[in-house]
Amino acid sequence: MKHLPWILFFSLQAHALPSFMQGPESPQIQDYQVTQAQCSGLRQDWILIRQFKFHGVGMGLAVNPQSLATNILPLRGLHCNALSSHFSQTNYGRLLTLARGRDFEQDNAGVTRSPLNPHVFLTTDLCPSSKVFEKDFYEWVRDHKTPIAISISGLWIQEHPEELKVLKELPSAGAPVTWVNHSLTHPYDRALPDGKNFFLLLGVDVREEVLGNEQTMIENGLTPSVFFRFPGLISSRAMADQILAWNLIPLGADAWLALDQKARPGSIILVHGNGNEPRGIHLFFQDLPDFLKMGFDSLSRL
Ligand SMILES: [Zn+2]
Repeated sequence: MKHLPWILFFSLQAHALPSFMQGPESPQIQDYQVTQAQCSGLRQDWILIRQFKFHGVGMGLAVNPQSLATNILPLRGLHCNALSSHFSQTNYGRLLTLARGRDFEQDNAGVTRSPLNPHVFLTTDLCPSSKVFEKDFYEWVRDHKTPIAISISGLWIQEHPEELKVLKELPSAGAPVTWVNHSLTHPYDRALPDGKNFFLLLGVDVREEVLGNEQTMIENGLTPSVFFRFPGLISSRAMADQILAWNLIPLGADAWLALDQKARPGSIILVHGNGNEPRGIHLFFQDLPDFLKMGFDSLSRL
């Protein structure tokens, strides 16, 4: 993958987690586990993908298999069984199968565009950054009630509490948000080529990066969606398979605007909202008339 040399990513030793991630004295979340079950409760069906204790109470992260809406629910009151064969025909099962079947080499694992839906899908990455976020861009999203996916890293959450507050208000202003896990520390070494970088750095703890960031998201009031975006869109096949085994859909993009990839019907558009890639934001507004003609849709309708 081409890489813009002026993009400033946060650089971090892959094995050295910052102190706030080494476990608070009394963590809100304990016993965080991957699970897979078909459940009913609250008058609908769910796929339960995580279970954990939240302040000592048994809770689960559950997915509506048709709408892909995720919810954090008390386990009490859910009635669960093994997945039925019908699961593969649900919207969730279809997207997992689509992502599993896609061939790739290190770059852009998983779903990169919609095979059926002619709209475009707006995704923005919040990799760790010392800069202020793209305020005008997110205000435009809010004012135009545009569905958006926000890929968020644990280190960005830690450094930007006020900006996170603004983003959390988007849904109540009419702009639906899909919260996408973008790893806990977003490992990166500016001295290395992409093919040896990001999650391919030696010593990256994929489990901690993925499941640890889910917990950070939940502790900060965000409900993780079923999507995961690899830092730099770079991964191995084995890592993509691991993400799928955790019931998550790797989220790529076929229109990373700052890399001069143009959106067409069905495209997943990628811009950075963290202030590190202003050219992508400029191109977003420049090409906006084309995007509006195609129309924006939510990732749940990929
Ligand atoms: Zn990133």
